[in-house]
Amino acid sequence: MNFKTVDSYNFSGKRALVRVDFNVPLDKKTFAVADDTRIRGALPTIKKILSDGGAVVLMSHLGRPLKKLKEDGTVDFEKHTLKHVVKPLAVLLGVEVKFATDCVGDEAFALSSSLKAGEVLLLENLRFYKEEEKGDAGFSEKLAKHGDVYVNDAFGTAHRAHASTTIVANYFTAENKMFGYLMADEVSNANKVLNSTEKPFTAILGGAKVSDKILLIENLLNKADNILIGGGMAYTFFKAMGGKTGNSLVEDDKLELALQLIEKAQEKNVNLLLPVDSVVADKFDADANSSIADSNAIPDGWMGLDIAAKAVYDFTQVILSSKIILWNGPMGVFEMEKFQNGTKEIAKAIAAATDSGAFSLVGGGDSVAAVNKFQLADKVSYVSTGGGAMLEYFEGKELPGIKAIAG
Ligand code: AMP
Repeated sequence: MNFKTVDSYNFSGKRALVRVDFNVPLDKKTFAVADDTRIRGALPTIKKILSDGGAVVLMSHLGRPLKKLKEDGTVDFEKHTLKHVVKPLAVLLGVEVKFATDCVGDEAFALSSSLKAGEVLLLENLRFYKEEEKGDAGFSEKLAKHGDVYVNDAFGTAHRAHASTTIVANYFTAENKMFGYLMADEVSNANKVLNSTEKPFTAILGGAKVSDKILLIENLLNKADNILIGGGMAYTFFKAMGGKTGNSLVEDDKLELALQLIEKAQEKNVNLLLPVDSVVADKFDADANSSIADSNAIPDGWMGLDIAAKAVYDFTQVILSSKIILWNGPMGVFEMEKFQNGTKEIAKAIAAATDSGAFSLVGGGDSVAAVNKFQLADKVSYVSTGGGAMLEYFEGKELPGIKAIAG
């Protein structure tokens, strides 16, 4: 895939309209930015444009203001205004940040049209307009008037055909629309996994439900040599094969599907590996009594909440011999100390394989939280912040935000 990035563009004298992901968590009481990771993520692109001698108009969404209304049915502006981002952004950037209290009103256009080289303007939350999520053409055309050049640096919303992520690109010529650094990094690292000819390619999938990962497993069956399945989703497979799963998380309406996936893996010669043993608990609780059981013979009243030693050993052997590794979803309820070991050991195995030359990509909210928790984020090759977008990309879908620029 060929795509243009900010790196090869000279922004001197240009106004760049940049779609960033400033959908940051806010403190519930003070509305202060509680985690500035996403703001930091946008800095390299903004700095590049400014250092070329360009001006930057930033646009983003924050939460879902038209869906999460106040109790009286009105829009909660205080909770959803991007004004909360102005100060932390200005501090991180070391540049004053102007703010427009609307993204398409007269004030916003007055501010963006008078913006000088080296200046930064942040527009108010795009999602105060229903036209944003609808991908409305008129709204997109108005947004486009804020810039001579369009830059998309918001991978997290690339799977949505919204006005600011996709439709707005129609109003710029091919030379004047491109990816920011963050977006380009996400796409090239995902492509490294998906298009690699190096083998073995191992996908490690976990998390709660198999139903969330069906399309992902199906697509990976065409690409991976090994698929390791842990987490709650493993028990639907064990039950489907006639195993006893006690009170473990099982999706009874997906038993047939689980059998089909096992069959497909055999047909395609993919090694689909399940965890032979589990750490079982008598309740879903951090202080539950725990024990070890074979994953297909879990006693009545007990539930599997983590993979146990034999499974960790099996998975580790496969991971250590892999050249390409994709990890999405924890191996157990890693939020509770008693059930974190499987996830931690798998994270360590991925780190060790990476150290020996494998390329590893970790993505999806909970596995990212896990590598952060175990302080292994800098020991894997790439941590994707994409969430839903990353999942859809690995499902083999064409993301509208990427297509709008890469064609
Ligand atoms: P997902 O969002 O589908 O990746 O699921 C992540 C969640 O799955 C985490 O909050 C884990 O606590 C949970 N999870 C992992 N393993 C299990 C399990 N064996 N039983 C119940 N929940 C689990």
